[in-house]
Amino acid sequence: MTVAIKSVDALRNAGLVDDDPALDAVAQKYAVGITPAMLALIDPDDPDDPIARQFVPTAPELLTTPDERADPIGDLSHSPVEGIVHRYPDRVLLKAVHVCPVYCRFCFRREMVGPQGLGTLTPAELDAAIGYIAAHEEIWEVILTGGDPLVLSPRRLRAITERLALIPHVKIVRFHTRVPVVEPERIDADMIAALKASGKTTYLAVHANHPRELTEAATAAFDRMIEAGVMLISQTVLLRGVNDSVETLAALMRGFVENRIRPYYLHHPDLAPGTAHFRLGIEEGQALVSALRGRISGLCQPVYVLDIPGGHGKAPINAANVRGGDGCFTVRDWQGGEHPYPPTD
Ligand SMILES: *Cc1c(COP(=O)(O)O)cnc(C)c1O
Ligand code: SF4
Repeated sequence: MTVAIKSVDALRNAGLVDDDPALDAVAQKYAVGITPAMLALIDPDDPDDPIARQFVPTAPELLTTPDERADPIGDLSHSPVEGIVHRYPDRVLLKAVHVCPVYCRFCFRREMVGPQGLGTLTPAELDAAIGYIAAHEEIWEVILTGGDPLVLSPRRLRAITERLALIPHVKIVRFHTRVPVVEPERIDADMIAALKASGKTTYLAVHANHPRELTEAATAAFDRMIEAGVMLISQTVLLRGVNDSVETLAALMRGFVENRIRPYYLHHPDLAPGTAHFRLGIEEGQALVSALRGRISGLCQPVYVLDIPGGHGKAPINAANVRGGDGCFTVRDWQGGEHPYPPTD
């Protein structure tokens, strides 16, 4: 079994990068990490490998464009206590840890995650965060994210879910994680037990960006969770050079559905520093998403969303299929044909 890569030198030893000193500068700014499961998927002979592109650092990460920002989705403006982001009335993010099993080169929280990132909540900070949730009866859902919450040991994770289980107004506990895909062996019986807060419904959003990530080992991890009663949904970041084609997106969304994962969000890439080489235009994204409609099953349709910079939340940005007003509309079908509604014939 290969071991995880955590440095540029280890990448050089593995023959995945050259001697370019710019890469050392990149690694100084943004953490590097690739798990054995993801290393095994990389084809070292393919310079455009979509898995390598997500995890192997490159020199363009040193270029920051004027519209990029350290906190691209405005988490900090909605953080009442350390570790909590409360942007919408009925749900909060609980960020207990800022470590990940892999470090994605396009990460929207890249300035906060990693060994030099914001770290893990102290016991006192965790108490205050849970106290905040308990004190706010409008909080119906708690979303554990980070970093990646599943890097915590099952024991530490269980300590959190057991406390959430005691809060009557919290009904849903949701995890956002890359672990089932990038480190599927972590999803064992102890981990699954820790995900489940007694008396609550558990949802888990699987982050995957390319159909090759849905390996046999990942599938087995999904199965174990589903059989234990965890509801699975997907989240994908639309990325140039990784999944910016109709064929790739269709294969990925079908892969989710075949694995009993309901496609949920396709994220337009955020304005994170040094990620311009991953970004597409919104029109390009809309054209890709429109092409999925009709071509593949309705079960396979994600919602295309933009997290509005400045902390204004997510907005669906699918191309509009309806125009008009005053009771008189034009509706576009999946092949581009336009039809009046109500019909005129
Ligand atoms: C994305 C996000 C959520 C979850 O939004 P949903 O649309 O419910 O998936 C909640 N809070 C914050 C701060 C977020 O950024
Ligand atoms: S796993 Fe998530 S939080 Fe961690 S680096 Fe990747 S995108 Fe960022």
